[in-house]
Amino acid sequence: MKYYSTNKQSENVELQEAVVKGLAADKGLYMPEQLKKLSREFYDTMQDLSFQEIAYRVADAFFGEDVPADILKEIVYDTLSFDTPVVHVKDNIYSLELFHGPTLAFKDVGGRFMARLLSYYIKKQGQKDVNVLVATSGDTGSAVANGFLGVEGIQVYVLYPKGKVSEIQEKQFTTLGQNITALEVDGTFDDCQALVKAAFMDKELNEKHLLTSANSINVARFLPQAFYYFYAYAQLKKAGKAEELVVCVPSGNFGNITAGLFAKKMGLPIKRFIAANNKNDIFYQYLQTGEYDPKPSVATIANAMDVGDPSNFARVLDLYSNSHAAIINEISGATYTDDQIRETVKKVYKETGYLLDPHGACGYRALEKGLQPQETGVFLETAHPAKFLETVEAIIGEEVEIPAKLQAFFRQEKKSIPVKRDFNSFKTFFMSL
Ligand SMILES: *Cc1c(COP(=O)(O)O)cnc(C)c1O
Repeated sequence: MKYYSTNKQSENVELQEAVVKGLAADKGLYMPEQLKKLSREFYDTMQDLSFQEIAYRVADAFFGEDVPADILKEIVYDTLSFDTPVVHVKDNIYSLELFHGPTLAFKDVGGRFMARLLSYYIKKQGQKDVNVLVATSGDTGSAVANGFLGVEGIQVYVLYPKGKVSEIQEKQFTTLGQNITALEVDGTFDDCQALVKAAFMDKELNEKHLLTSANSINVARFLPQAFYYFYAYAQLKKAGKAEELVVCVPSGNFGNITAGLFAKKMGLPIKRFIAANNKNDIFYQYLQTGEYDPKPSVATIANAMDVGDPSNFARVLDLYSNSHAAIINEISGATYTDDQIRETVKKVYKETGYLLDPHGACGYRALEKGLQPQETGVFLETAHPAKFLETVEAIIGEEVEIPAKLQAFFRQEKKSIPVKRDFNSFKTFFMSL
């Protein structure tokens, strides 16, 4: 299947090129030419299938023309070798827990899938080393770094804003060594993202190195996120709760929710979506006014959503043919302050015993406020609360148990290279490699 650019100024490319390049030459994001509907038989029987079986069927619709079946199956089964339970929280609200992977956040799914697909292409082609550049506000870096750790032929550079990620997040990508290098940028997440984008546009740099991005602009990272929408639906169908399903996604760069919108286009009967934001409310404002007005991001306690110019907005627009009316017909928004997030974590914990993380709290709150009585809501619990330990413990006034996977990172020593936020010094560093 071919992939086109949302800016429509570049040629359509094969999957391999879309994955290796990340961003199209015209700065647009790649989109699959077709979103295949899944069969009736699949929808009728999905409640009896395992997560891996469901994901393979979805992966086949995306990638089946381009990747041999046995290899695709192996990649899917290996990527999803951890639990993804749907947990009842309260009334008609469910949590899809996406934090049981190696770094305890949903990005493990796309990160692992992309690492394995890229590695397949590198082996097949005998291609020169690929440098993966990834800007992170906290969780992307760890998921991508852990997904790519030790993968031959790939060097990973994680750019992160100095002092703006939690200690645990930082440990998860600064302690790994091998093919993973952490670059500590004297700036914000938006500065990191701007550096990565500028690197892709720089001719000299691209002549010297083969660069790609593992941010959700990359189709290999972004599309696999559709898998778990199908799985969540199947689980709720099994429980007799899928009739009027509303899915709420705590959103930053909007890759996660866009994958859900793709799932709906492929026939998954989700009634509507809610995009939950923290104070970075660019998308929320767009829904209200029809104007897209990117702003510098502001720091919040749900820091993986501190994005002032969501990169996947271009995909949302493209999916709905630039129609604001079509978008607000399927997606509504919500925006919460840090105080509201704290209040939600505390209240839900007290009332139900369920501990939300600050991102999931935005999702929960938007459902509690926005659900109609006959609807069922599921929010994506995007990270384990222990990843935001100090914040969450201060809110509930109790110690939070740290999963063994996280404790292991704590014992390692941080290694990073300091980088200035201006592109020239970044480029000098990169050219010297
Ligand atoms: C990345 C992330 C988000 C935002 O996801 P997008 O795909 O960028 O919208 C939300 N919560 C957590 C914990 C994350 O790591």
